[in-house]
Amino acid sequence: MISFYIKTYGCMMNVYDSNKMADLLVSKGYTQVLNPYDADVLIFYTCNVREKAVHKLLSDIGRLKFVNAKVIAVGGCIAQSEGKRLFERAPSINISFGPQTYHKLPEYIDKVLKGERERIIDSTFYKMDKFLSCPKKRNVSISEHIAIQEGCDNFCTYCIVPYTRGREYSRPVKDILEEAKWLLDNGAQELVLWGQNVNSYHGEAPYITIGHHKATWRIEQLLQAVAQLPGIRRLRYSTSHPKDFNEALMYVHNEIPLLVPFTHIPVQSGSDRILKQMNRGYTSAEYLYKLNKFREICPAIQFSSDFIVGFPGETEEDFKDTLRLVEQVKYTISYSFKYSPRSGTPAAKMLDQVPEKIKEQRLKILQDTLLQDQITFNKALVDKTQEVLFYKKGKRVKQYIGKNVYMQSVVVESEKDLIGKFKDVLIKSAEENCVIGQVV
Ligand code: SF4
Repeated sequence: MISFYIKTYGCMMNVYDSNKMADLLVSKGYTQVLNPYDADVLIFYTCNVREKAVHKLLSDIGRLKFVNAKVIAVGGCIAQSEGKRLFERAPSINISFGPQTYHKLPEYIDKVLKGERERIIDSTFYKMDKFLSCPKKRNVSISEHIAIQEGCDNFCTYCIVPYTRGREYSRPVKDILEEAKWLLDNGAQELVLWGQNVNSYHGEAPYITIGHHKATWRIEQLLQAVAQLPGIRRLRYSTSHPKDFNEALMYVHNEIPLLVPFTHIPVQSGSDRILKQMNRGYTSAEYLYKLNKFREICPAIQFSSDFIVGFPGETEEDFKDTLRLVEQVKYTISYSFKYSPRSGTPAAKMLDQVPEKIKEQRLKILQDTLLQDQITFNKALVDKTQEVLFYKKGKRVKQYIGKNVYMQSVVVESEKDLIGKFKDVLIKSAEENCVIGQVV
Protein backbone atom coordinates (compact mmCIF):
# COMPACT_ATOMS: atom_id res chain seq x y z
CA MET A 1 0.00 0.00 0.00
CA ILE A 2 1.41 3.41 -0.96
CA SER A 3 1.40 6.08 1.73
CA PHE A 4 1.20 9.83 1.20
CA TYR A 5 1.69 12.94 3.31
CA ILE A 6 0.28 16.37 2.43
CA LYS A 7 1.67 19.66 3.72
CA THR A 8 -0.73 22.51 2.99
CA TYR A 9 0.22 26.19 2.89
CA GLY A 10 -2.06 29.21 2.72
CA CYS A 11 -5.76 29.83 2.53
CA MET A 12 -8.92 27.83 3.18
CA MET A 13 -9.20 27.14 -0.54
CA ASN A 14 -5.92 25.23 -0.30
CA VAL A 15 -7.16 23.32 2.76
CA TYR A 16 -10.30 22.46 0.80
CA ASP A 17 -8.27 21.30 -2.22
CA SER A 18 -5.94 19.26 0.02
CA ASN A 19 -8.89 17.45 1.61
CA LYS A 20 -10.30 16.68 -1.83
CA MET A 21 -6.91 15.40 -2.96
CA ALA A 22 -6.55 13.20 0.13
CA ASP A 23 -10.05 11.73 -0.35
CA LEU A 24 -9.22 11.04 -4.00
CA LEU A 25 -5.94 9.27 -3.18
CA VAL A 26 -7.57 7.20 -0.41
CA SER A 27 -10.33 6.16 -2.84
CA LYS A 28 -7.56 4.85 -5.13
CA GLY A 29 -6.07 2.71 -2.34
CA TYR A 30 -3.40 5.06 -0.92
CA THR A 31 -2.99 5.55 2.85
CA GLN A 32 -2.65 9.01 4.36
CA VAL A 33 0.05 9.39 7.03
CA LEU A 34 0.65 12.29 9.39
CA ASN A 35 4.43 12.00 9.51
CA PRO A 36 6.40 12.90 6.37
CA TYR A 37 9.10 10.39 7.34
CA ASP A 38 6.55 7.54 6.91
CA ALA A 39 5.42 8.60 3.43
CA ASP A 40 6.19 7.14 0.01
CA VAL A 41 4.73 10.25 -1.61
CA LEU A 42 5.30 13.78 -0.29
CA ILE A 43 2.83 16.37 -1.51
CA PHE A 44 3.39 20.09 -0.90
CA TYR A 45 0.27 22.09 -1.71
CA THR A 46 1.40 25.68 -1.96
CA CYS A 47 0.33 29.29 -1.78
CA ASN A 48 2.31 32.30 -2.93
CA VAL A 49 0.23 35.05 -1.44
CA ARG A 50 2.64 35.51 1.47
CA GLU A 51 6.13 36.90 1.23
CA LYS A 52 9.03 34.49 0.59
CA ALA A 53 6.63 31.60 -0.07
CA VAL A 54 8.92 29.95 -2.66
CA HIS A 55 11.91 30.25 -0.34
CA LYS A 56 9.93 28.61 2.49
CA LEU A 57 8.76 25.79 0.25
CA LEU A 58 12.27 25.03 -1.00
CA SER A 59 13.65 25.04 2.51
CA ASP A 60 10.89 22.63 3.64
CA ILE A 61 11.70 20.31 0.73
CA GLY A 62 15.41 20.61 1.52
CA ARG A 63 14.81 19.76 5.16
CA LEU A 64 13.05 16.54 4.19
CA LYS A 65 15.54 15.48 1.52
CA PHE A 66 16.77 12.49 3.51
CA VAL A 67 13.30 11.04 3.72
CA ASN A 68 12.84 7.89 1.72
CA ALA A 69 9.98 9.30 -0.29
CA LYS A 70 9.78 7.85 -3.79
CA VAL A 71 7.83 10.78 -5.21
CA ILE A 72 7.84 14.50 -4.38
CA ALA A 73 4.92 16.49 -5.81
CA VAL A 74 4.43 20.24 -5.55
CA GLY A 75 0.97 21.58 -6.31
CA GLY A 76 -1.05 24.78 -6.04
CA CYS A 77 -0.21 28.38 -6.80
CA ILE A 78 3.60 28.20 -6.65
CA ALA A 79 3.60 25.21 -9.00
CA GLN A 80 1.36 27.15 -11.38
CA SER A 81 3.41 30.33 -11.36
CA GLU A 82 6.93 28.84 -11.18
CA GLY A 83 6.40 26.08 -13.75
CA LYS A 84 9.67 24.45 -14.90
CA ARG A 85 11.76 26.74 -12.71
CA LEU A 86 10.75 24.62 -9.73
CA PHE A 87 12.57 21.59 -11.17
CA GLU A 88 15.68 23.69 -11.64
CA ARG A 89 15.57 25.04 -8.11
CA ALA A 90 14.77 21.68 -6.44
CA PRO A 91 15.76 18.73 -8.68
CA SER A 92 14.22 16.25 -6.21
CA ILE A 93 10.72 17.36 -7.28
CA ASN A 94 9.04 14.88 -9.63
CA ILE A 95 5.61 16.42 -10.18
CA SER A 96 4.52 20.04 -10.50
CA PHE A 97 0.75 20.46 -10.74
CA GLY A 98 -1.41 23.60 -10.77
CA PRO A 99 -4.52 24.12 -8.62
CA GLN A 100 -6.88 22.98 -11.39
CA THR A 101 -5.11 19.67 -11.99
CA TYR A 102 -5.04 17.85 -8.66
CA HIS A 103 -7.55 15.26 -9.87
CA LYS A 104 -4.77 13.97 -12.18
CA LEU A 105 -2.35 13.43 -9.30
CA PRO A 106 -2.99 9.66 -8.79
CA GLU A 107 -2.24 9.11 -12.50
CA TYR A 108 0.97 11.17 -12.32
CA ILE A 109 2.18 9.48 -9.12
CA ASP A 110 1.56 6.11 -10.75
CA LYS A 111 3.66 7.07 -13.78
CA VAL A 112 6.59 8.18 -11.60
CA LEU A 113 6.39 5.08 -9.38
CA LYS A 114 6.36 2.80 -12.44
CA GLY A 115 9.38 4.63 -13.84
CA GLU A 116 7.47 5.72 -16.95
CA ARG A 117 8.23 9.39 -16.24
CA GLU A 118 10.79 11.06 -14.01
CA ARG A 119 9.26 14.54 -14.19
CA ILE A 120 5.71 15.66 -14.92
CA ILE A 121 4.40 19.21 -15.15
CA ASP A 122 0.73 20.12 -15.58
CA SER A 123 -0.57 23.66 -15.37
CA THR A 124 -3.73 23.21 -17.44
CA PHE A 125 -6.89 25.07 -16.40
CA TYR A 126 -9.34 22.15 -16.44
CA LYS A 127 -11.99 24.08 -14.46
CA MET A 128 -14.80 21.63 -13.60
CA ASP A 129 -12.95 18.34 -14.07
CA LYS A 130 -11.41 18.26 -10.61
CA PHE A 131 -14.78 18.69 -8.89
CA LEU A 132 -16.33 15.95 -11.00
CA SER A 133 -13.41 13.56 -10.42
CA CYS A 134 -13.28 13.73 -6.63
CA PRO A 135 -15.14 11.33 -4.34
CA LYS A 136 -17.40 12.51 -1.53
CA LYS A 137 -15.67 13.74 1.63
CA ARG A 138 -14.66 11.00 4.08
CA ASN A 139 -14.31 12.69 7.45
CA VAL A 140 -17.05 15.28 7.65
CA SER A 141 -16.64 17.99 10.32
CA ILE A 142 -19.31 19.95 12.12
CA SER A 143 -18.39 22.99 10.00
CA GLU A 144 -17.59 22.48 6.33
CA HIS A 145 -16.58 24.64 3.36
CA ILE A 146 -18.00 24.13 -0.12
CA ALA A 147 -16.25 25.75 -3.09
CA ILE A 148 -19.00 27.35 -5.20
CA GLN A 149 -16.75 29.26 -7.57
CA GLU A 150 -13.08 29.59 -8.25
CA GLY A 151 -10.69 31.89 -10.03
CA CYS A 152 -11.03 35.60 -10.55
CA ASP A 153 -11.52 38.07 -13.41
CA ASN A 154 -10.74 41.19 -11.42
CA PHE A 155 -6.97 41.40 -11.86
CA CYS A 156 -6.21 43.56 -8.86
CA THR A 157 -2.73 44.79 -9.64
CA TYR A 158 -1.11 43.23 -6.53
CA CYS A 159 -2.74 39.80 -6.78
CA ILE A 160 -1.46 36.61 -8.37
CA VAL A 161 -4.74 34.65 -8.11
CA PRO A 162 -6.08 35.30 -11.66
CA TYR A 163 -2.77 33.96 -13.02
CA THR A 164 -2.61 30.89 -10.77
CA ARG A 165 -6.25 29.88 -10.19
CA GLY A 166 -7.34 31.13 -13.60
CA ARG A 167 -10.42 32.97 -14.79
CA GLU A 168 -13.58 32.89 -12.78
CA TYR A 169 -16.00 29.98 -13.09
CA SER A 170 -18.98 28.89 -11.05
CA ARG A 171 -19.95 25.33 -10.23
CA PRO A 172 -23.47 24.25 -11.26
CA VAL A 173 -26.13 24.57 -8.56
CA LYS A 174 -26.96 20.86 -8.75
CA ASP A 175 -23.38 19.82 -7.87
CA ILE A 176 -23.19 22.26 -4.96
CA LEU A 177 -26.52 21.12 -3.53
CA GLU A 178 -25.47 17.47 -3.82
CA GLU A 179 -22.23 18.17 -1.97
CA ALA A 180 -24.06 20.22 0.68
CA LYS A 181 -26.61 17.44 1.20
CA TRP A 182 -23.87 14.83 1.57
CA LEU A 183 -22.04 16.93 4.17
CA LEU A 184 -25.23 17.61 6.15
CA ASP A 185 -26.31 13.96 6.02
CA ASN A 186 -22.90 13.02 7.42
CA GLY A 187 -22.69 15.36 10.38
CA ALA A 188 -22.03 18.92 9.18
CA GLN A 189 -24.26 21.57 10.72
CA GLU A 190 -22.54 24.73 9.55
CA LEU A 191 -21.75 25.32 5.86
CA VAL A 192 -19.57 28.04 4.36
CA LEU A 193 -20.09 28.75 0.65
CA TRP A 194 -16.60 29.56 -0.42
CA GLY A 195 -14.70 31.09 -3.32
CA GLN A 196 -12.40 33.91 -4.39
CA ASN A 197 -15.34 36.14 -5.28
CA VAL A 198 -18.60 34.47 -4.27
CA ASN A 199 -20.89 37.40 -4.91
CA SER A 200 -20.19 37.22 -8.61
CA TYR A 201 -21.38 33.58 -8.55
CA HIS A 202 -23.44 32.69 -11.63
CA GLY A 203 -23.85 28.92 -11.62
CA GLU A 204 -25.96 26.85 -13.98
CA ALA A 205 -29.49 26.51 -12.60
CA PRO A 206 -30.79 23.04 -11.79
CA TYR A 207 -33.59 23.29 -14.38
CA ILE A 208 -34.10 24.23 -18.03
CA THR A 209 -36.10 27.37 -18.81
CA ILE A 210 -38.40 28.08 -21.76
CA GLY A 211 -36.44 27.89 -24.98
CA HIS A 212 -34.28 25.06 -23.54
CA HIS A 213 -31.80 27.50 -22.04
CA LYS A 214 -30.21 26.74 -18.74
CA ALA A 215 -30.66 29.77 -16.53
CA THR A 216 -28.03 30.80 -14.02
CA TRP A 217 -28.47 31.43 -10.33
CA ARG A 218 -26.83 34.12 -8.29
CA ILE A 219 -25.55 33.56 -4.77
CA GLU A 220 -28.81 34.85 -3.27
CA GLN A 221 -30.77 31.98 -4.84
CA LEU A 222 -28.08 29.49 -3.95
CA LEU A 223 -28.12 30.57 -0.29
CA GLN A 224 -31.92 30.23 -0.24
CA ALA A 225 -31.69 26.68 -1.62
CA VAL A 226 -28.89 25.57 0.75
CA ALA A 227 -30.80 27.03 3.71
CA GLN A 228 -33.73 24.69 2.91
CA LEU A 229 -31.65 21.53 3.20
CA PRO A 230 -32.45 19.30 6.19
CA GLY A 231 -29.93 19.43 9.02
CA ILE A 232 -28.41 22.86 8.40
CA ARG A 233 -28.06 25.09 11.47
CA ARG A 234 -25.76 27.89 10.29
CA LEU A 235 -24.79 29.33 6.93
CA ARG A 236 -21.93 31.64 5.88
CA TYR A 237 -20.31 32.79 2.63
CA SER A 238 -16.92 34.27 1.83
CA THR A 239 -15.16 36.12 0.20
CA SER A 240 -17.07 38.99 -1.36
CA HIS A 241 -15.84 41.74 -3.64
CA PRO A 242 -17.20 45.20 -2.73
CA LYS A 243 -18.02 46.10 -6.34
CA ASP A 244 -20.19 42.99 -6.78
CA PHE A 245 -22.06 43.32 -3.50
CA ASN A 246 -25.69 44.11 -4.33
CA GLU A 247 -28.80 44.92 -2.35
CA ALA A 248 -30.42 41.57 -3.14
CA LEU A 249 -27.70 39.85 -1.11
CA MET A 250 -28.22 42.32 1.74
CA TYR A 251 -31.95 41.49 1.84
CA VAL A 252 -31.20 37.76 1.88
CA HIS A 253 -29.67 38.25 5.34
CA ASN A 254 -33.11 39.22 6.59
CA GLU A 255 -34.85 36.41 4.74
CA ILE A 256 -32.69 33.50 5.94
CA PRO A 257 -32.54 33.33 9.75
CA LEU A 258 -29.66 30.86 9.77
CA LEU A 259 -27.46 33.07 7.56
CA VAL A 260 -25.10 34.83 9.98
CA PRO A 261 -25.32 38.64 10.32
CA PHE A 262 -21.64 38.98 9.50
CA THR A 263 -19.81 39.40 6.24
CA HIS A 264 -16.24 39.90 5.02
CA ILE A 265 -15.98 42.77 2.51
CA PRO A 266 -12.30 43.53 1.92
CA VAL A 267 -11.71 47.21 1.18
CA GLN A 268 -7.85 47.05 1.07
CA SER A 269 -7.40 50.85 1.20
CA GLY A 270 -9.39 53.97 2.05
CA SER A 271 -7.63 56.11 -0.57
CA ASP A 272 -9.36 56.48 -3.94
CA ARG A 273 -6.02 57.06 -5.63
CA ILE A 274 -4.62 53.81 -4.25
CA LEU A 275 -7.85 51.88 -4.94
CA LYS A 276 -7.50 52.99 -8.57
CA GLN A 277 -3.86 51.90 -8.66
CA MET A 278 -4.95 48.58 -7.21
CA ASN A 279 -7.65 48.26 -9.91
CA ARG A 280 -10.27 47.52 -7.27
CA GLY A 281 -13.19 48.97 -9.24
CA TYR A 282 -14.78 51.14 -6.52
CA THR A 283 -14.14 54.33 -4.58
CA SER A 284 -14.14 54.62 -0.82
CA ALA A 285 -17.44 56.55 -1.02
CA GLU A 286 -19.06 53.74 -3.03
CA TYR A 287 -17.77 51.20 -0.53
CA LEU A 288 -19.09 53.18 2.44
CA TYR A 289 -22.43 53.70 0.69
CA LYS A 290 -22.85 49.92 0.36
CA LEU A 291 -21.97 49.26 3.98
CA ASN A 292 -24.35 51.96 5.20
CA LYS A 293 -27.09 50.58 2.96
CA PHE A 294 -26.41 47.12 4.35
CA ARG A 295 -26.80 48.43 7.92
CA GLU A 296 -30.04 50.14 6.94
CA ILE A 297 -31.45 46.92 5.45
CA CYS A 298 -30.05 44.57 8.07
CA PRO A 299 -29.28 46.46 11.32
CA ALA A 300 -27.60 43.44 12.96
CA ILE A 301 -24.93 43.12 10.27
CA GLN A 302 -21.25 43.35 11.24
CA PHE A 303 -18.27 43.60 8.89
CA SER A 304 -14.72 42.40 8.60
CA SER A 305 -12.14 43.47 6.03
CA ASP A 306 -8.63 43.01 4.65
CA PHE A 307 -6.16 45.88 4.35
CA ILE A 308 -2.90 46.31 2.48
CA VAL A 309 -0.62 49.07 3.77
CA GLY A 310 2.33 50.49 1.87
CA PHE A 311 1.01 49.75 -1.62
CA PRO A 312 3.37 51.38 -4.19
CA GLY A 313 2.90 55.15 -4.17
CA GLU A 314 0.93 55.22 -0.89
CA THR A 315 1.51 58.62 0.77
CA GLU A 316 0.86 59.68 4.35
CA GLU A 317 -2.38 61.28 3.14
CA ASP A 318 -3.48 58.04 1.44
CA PHE A 319 -2.78 56.14 4.63
CA LYS A 320 -4.79 58.68 6.64
CA ASP A 321 -7.70 58.08 4.25
CA THR A 322 -7.55 54.40 5.24
CA LEU A 323 -7.61 55.33 8.94
CA ARG A 324 -10.57 57.64 8.30
CA LEU A 325 -12.47 54.85 6.58
CA VAL A 326 -11.76 52.46 9.47
CA GLU A 327 -13.00 55.11 11.88
CA GLN A 328 -16.28 55.34 9.97
CA VAL A 329 -16.94 51.62 9.55
CA LYS A 330 -15.83 50.19 12.91
CA TYR A 331 -15.01 46.64 11.88
CA THR A 332 -15.65 43.70 14.17
CA ILE A 333 -12.48 41.92 13.10
CA SER A 334 -9.92 42.58 10.35
CA TYR A 335 -6.79 41.32 8.67
CA SER A 336 -4.04 43.72 7.66
CA PHE A 337 -0.75 43.14 5.87
CA LYS A 338 2.23 45.04 4.51
CA TYR A 339 2.27 45.13 0.73
CA SER A 340 4.86 42.78 -0.71
CA PRO A 341 5.44 42.42 -4.46
CA ARG A 342 4.33 39.24 -6.23
CA SER A 343 6.42 38.54 -9.26
CA GLY A 344 4.31 38.64 -12.43
CA THR A 345 1.82 41.20 -11.12
CA PRO A 346 1.64 44.81 -12.40
CA ALA A 347 2.18 46.29 -8.91
CA ALA A 348 5.51 44.48 -8.57
CA LYS A 349 6.81 46.60 -11.48
CA MET A 350 5.58 49.92 -10.05
CA LEU A 351 8.51 52.20 -9.37
CA ASP A 352 7.45 54.03 -6.23
CA GLN A 353 7.69 51.14 -3.76
CA VAL A 354 7.24 52.24 -0.14
CA PRO A 355 10.24 51.67 2.17
CA GLU A 356 9.88 48.70 4.52
CA LYS A 357 10.25 50.81 7.65
CA ILE A 358 7.32 53.06 6.68
CA LYS A 359 5.19 50.04 5.88
CA GLU A 360 5.93 48.63 9.32
CA GLN A 361 5.04 51.91 11.05
CA ARG A 362 1.78 52.23 9.15
CA LEU A 363 0.85 48.62 9.75
CA LYS A 364 1.32 49.06 13.50
CA ILE A 365 -0.86 52.20 13.55
CA LEU A 366 -3.58 50.51 11.51
CA GLN A 367 -3.53 47.31 13.56
CA ASP A 368 -3.75 49.26 16.83
CA THR A 369 -6.78 51.14 15.49
CA LEU A 370 -8.48 47.98 14.26
CA LEU A 371 -7.78 46.25 17.56
CA GLN A 372 -9.43 49.06 19.52
CA ASP A 373 -12.61 48.61 17.46
CA GLN A 374 -12.43 44.86 17.94
CA ILE A 375 -12.12 45.26 21.73
CA THR A 376 -15.02 47.72 21.79
CA PHE A 377 -17.17 45.26 19.90
CA ASN A 378 -16.14 42.36 22.15
CA LYS A 379 -17.01 44.40 25.24
CA ALA A 380 -20.42 45.29 23.81
CA LEU A 381 -21.31 41.60 23.88
CA VAL A 382 -20.87 41.27 27.64
CA ASP A 383 -24.17 40.23 29.32
CA LYS A 384 -25.58 39.17 25.96
CA THR A 385 -26.39 35.59 24.99
CA GLN A 386 -24.78 34.23 21.83
CA GLU A 387 -25.29 30.98 19.97
CA VAL A 388 -21.90 29.26 19.80
CA LEU A 389 -20.73 26.27 17.79
CA PHE A 390 -17.91 24.50 19.66
CA TYR A 391 -15.01 23.24 17.57
CA LYS A 392 -12.17 22.34 19.91
CA LYS A 393 -10.81 21.93 23.43
CA GLY A 394 -8.98 24.81 25.07
CA LYS A 395 -5.59 24.66 26.79
CA ARG A 396 -7.09 24.13 30.24
CA VAL A 397 -8.99 21.06 31.44
CA LYS A 398 -12.75 21.40 30.83
CA GLN A 399 -12.13 24.42 28.56
CA TYR A 400 -13.89 24.56 25.16
CA ILE A 401 -13.59 27.03 22.29
CA GLY A 402 -16.27 27.83 19.77
CA LYS A 403 -17.33 30.56 17.37
CA ASN A 404 -20.37 32.81 17.52
CA VAL A 405 -22.09 34.21 14.45
CA TYR A 406 -19.47 36.99 14.22
CA MET A 407 -16.60 34.48 13.99
CA GLN A 408 -15.36 35.56 17.41
CA SER A 409 -13.75 32.92 19.56
CA VAL A 410 -15.89 32.15 22.61
CA VAL A 411 -14.26 30.35 25.53
CA VAL A 412 -16.24 28.46 28.19
CA GLU A 413 -15.64 25.84 30.86
CA SER A 414 -17.89 22.81 30.89
CA GLU A 415 -18.12 19.43 32.61
CA LYS A 416 -19.72 18.01 29.46
CA ASP A 417 -18.01 17.53 26.10
CA LEU A 418 -19.17 20.41 23.90
CA ILE A 419 -17.30 19.61 20.69
CA GLY A 420 -19.63 19.66 17.72
CA LYS A 421 -22.50 21.18 19.69
CA PHE A 422 -24.40 24.46 19.41
CA LYS A 423 -24.99 26.07 22.80
CA ASP A 424 -26.36 29.37 24.02
CA VAL A 425 -23.60 31.15 25.91
CA LEU A 426 -23.94 34.16 28.20
CA ILE A 427 -20.89 36.38 27.63
CA LYS A 428 -19.28 37.34 30.96
CA SER A 429 -16.15 39.20 29.90
CA ALA A 430 -14.19 40.32 26.85
CA GLU A 431 -10.54 39.96 25.93
CA GLU A 432 -8.69 41.35 22.90
CA ASN A 433 -9.13 38.28 20.73
CA CYS A 434 -11.98 36.39 22.37
CA VAL A 435 -14.89 36.59 24.76
CA ILE A 436 -15.38 34.42 27.85
CA GLY A 437 -18.77 33.00 28.65
CA GLN A 438 -20.91 30.47 30.42
CA VAL A 439 -23.24 27.93 28.83
CA VAL A 440 -26.85 28.75 29.75
S1 SF4 B 1 -10.62 40.18 -6.35
FE1 SF4 B 1 -8.54 40.96 -6.60
S2 SF4 B 1 -7.54 40.31 -4.67
FE2 SF4 B 1 -9.37 39.08 -4.85
S3 SF4 B 1 -8.72 37.19 -5.90
FE3 SF4 B 1 -9.45 38.61 -7.49
S4 SF4 B 1 -7.62 39.67 -8.22
FE4 SF4 B 1 -7.11 38.74 -6.23
